[in-house]
Amino acid sequence: MKELVILGSTGSIGTQSLEVAQSQGYRVTGLVAGGNIELLEQQAREWKPKNVAVFNEEKARDLKIKLADTDTKVLSGEEGVCEVAGGCGDTVVNAIVGIAGLKPTLSAIESGKTIALANKETLVTGGEIVKRKAKEKGISILPVDSEHSAIFQSLQGAPKGSIKRILLTASGGPFFEKTKKDLENVTVKEALNHPNWSMGAKITIDSATLMNKGLEVIEAVHLFDISADNIEVLVHRQSIIHSGVELSDGAVIAQLGTPDMRLPIQYALTYPERSDYAFERLDLFKIGTLTFARPDTETFRCLPLCVKAITEGGIAPTVINGANEEAVRLFLEGKIKFLQIAELVEKALNTVNNKKEFTLDDIFYADTLAREIVRKGD
Ligand code: NDP
Repeated sequence: MKELVILGSTGSIGTQSLEVAQSQGYRVTGLVAGGNIELLEQQAREWKPKNVAVFNEEKARDLKIKLADTDTKVLSGEEGVCEVAGGCGDTVVNAIVGIAGLKPTLSAIESGKTIALANKETLVTGGEIVKRKAKEKGISILPVDSEHSAIFQSLQGAPKGSIKRILLTASGGPFFEKTKKDLENVTVKEALNHPNWSMGAKITIDSATLMNKGLEVIEAVHLFDISADNIEVLVHRQSIIHSGVELSDGAVIAQLGTPDMRLPIQYALTYPERSDYAFERLDLFKIGTLTFARPDTETFRCLPLCVKAITEGGIAPTVINGANEEAVRLFLEGKIKFLQIAELVEKALNTVNNKKEFTLDDIFYADTLAREIVRKGD
């Protein structure tokens, strides 16, 4: 029986991973959350994992008291999170949000686990290091992000080197076809109102700014060893075609499905097998029409900024990611306006000196600098 460790189990992907685990009859041996101990306690009682970890130390102390009558061990802080990531279990689902997911991914690789990766920030910031370590250890990193899962599925059976182009679809978010003027005073509530997907707050804002698509371009560069020039972003409002590839002979192969993350999660967990899917199936008659449009990169600056960052390489993608995490936090707290997210990200990208050769420490230093620039504002 497959044994899973779920990092970020209290979040959107984490809870859906547990639903898939339930439907497939998997065992769960480790769970990790940031601070939501109410839900983590419920999950621990239901799944009886060997270990759980809570990033917030105080909350971890409270959970330890709550779970005193169980056999589950409670760990805390970044160290505890990494310990659970590298502890018992054969597959780690990384569904932590932000750069906080990078070290746990490395711990899981170090201890030889297969990784089902939702945490795109792992590859955006530490792509080179993660890929090198995974190769050394012979570890598979299987994409959970729906677009990358679709590309991965489309490539099954394609000869190595036959990929010409990636077609990366984007829903366009809540502000498709809006002008800069329209976006000047949009509220947090409006930005969180995604038309197709129900997701955590950070990625929902990233979808509204198109930063999410930019981060996905960077993620695809790392996962599929392709240059950003060969990745075409298409706005596809229905979110039915989850992405695809164009091969050397002109064939375009794509994966379609309902906008539901449980399918890509399940594929990452059952790969290379296909097993029965317990959730809603796609009915194309209900959809009727599929449309495509070019993204508006003048209004939604985060997308071209990400392409610029990955083309420059080095620590530029980390700078853009750190600046964005901080700017999104400030926007969600009502401290900056929507359009300032892209402005601050661009400022950080233009301010921090790039470094082509870098270590893990350089990544976290670049992240800190980028966040400071954003906090100082303009
Ligand atoms: P959520 O905000 O819903 O969940 C994030 C999870 O991470 C929560 O369990 C949270 O715990 C936990 N967490 C936060 N900080 C830490 C930390 N420092 N240490 C340990 N755990 C932490 O996010 P999503 O599920 O939406 O997204 C997770 C990742 O998956 C992101 O990288 C996102 O880009 C990616 N993704 C998400 C998709 C989606 O549909 N949601 C689609 C494709 C990719 P707590 O609840 O206690 O705060």
